[in-house]
Amino acid sequence: EALLEVDGVTLQYKTPHHLITATYRVSFDVLPGDRFVLLGPSGCGKSTLLKAVGGYMPPTEGEIRLKGRTVTGPGPDRMMVFQEFDQLLPWKTVKQNVVFALEASGRLMGRAAEERAMAYIDKVNLTKFADSYPHMLSGGMKQRVAIARGMAMEPDILLMDEPFAALDALTRRKMQDELLMLWEETRFTVLFVTHSIPEAIKIGSRILLLSPHPGEVKAELNSAGTPA
Ligand code: ADP
Ligand code: ADP
Repeated sequence: EALLEVDGVTLQYKTPHHLITATYRVSFDVLPGDRFVLLGPSGCGKSTLLKAVGGYMPPTEGEIRLKGRTVTGPGPDRMMVFQEFDQLLPWKTVKQNVVFALEASGRLMGRAAEERAMAYIDKVNLTKFADSYPHMLSGGMKQRVAIARGMAMEPDILLMDEPFAALDALTRRKMQDELLMLWEETRFTVLFVTHSIPEAIKIGSRILLLSPHPGEVKAELNSAGTPA
């Protein structure tokens, strides 16, 4: 049974003079426990597709379903982790950042939220830094916090947009190894975007290769904002 169904999805951006087709009739199913990788060169529509699964962008055509229900907006059942590690609240400690996400979403409150937060901070090997502030951490450590925060929400699916791209090669390899072990062990379902073939092969249980459709990428718009 599919957890996530992307069914004939086309995604378009409308700029003042162009209609840009970022994704054209893409279909795939993500099964529970999949580490599903969207692989392809820059500009092939990976981020746009992930944004749509996150509920931040409605499909022009087709449908996205989670557990059989059409996705119409963002929700805590689909947590997103981005490439940049500047998404933590600087005035909160590592632990407070994770607790805040749990409480603000209404997932868990008080002691229960703290226990859940510490369990996931431990899973990413940051227990010793739970009371540190983000500015005291390295880039790789900050990214671990962001990932712990996403996983602590225990979403149906974790959406990751090039989460290791801004890290140095050594840190990236270490995090790939550690998270891969964790995800295999816990059967966490992940939808992962990357342009790196080695990364896709390492992380993925399944890989979808996307290529741009040059002929369909752009359409001129006339003054009425409709395709010319
Ligand atoms: P990828 O993540 O694979 O690099 P993107 O999803 O970022 O690709 O982009 C796919 C296409 O959509 C590209 O042609 C890009 O220029 C275009 N695009 C992305 N974001 C926007 C935007 N906000 N407005 C207009 N066009 C965009
Ligand atoms: P590996 O995982 O063995 O480092 P990659 O293909 O991921 O192999 O990386 C090879 C090199 O390409 C890296 O050292 C890095 O400099 C660069 N690189 C890889 N992925 C990215 C990315 N997403 N953004 C920027 N640079 C990258």
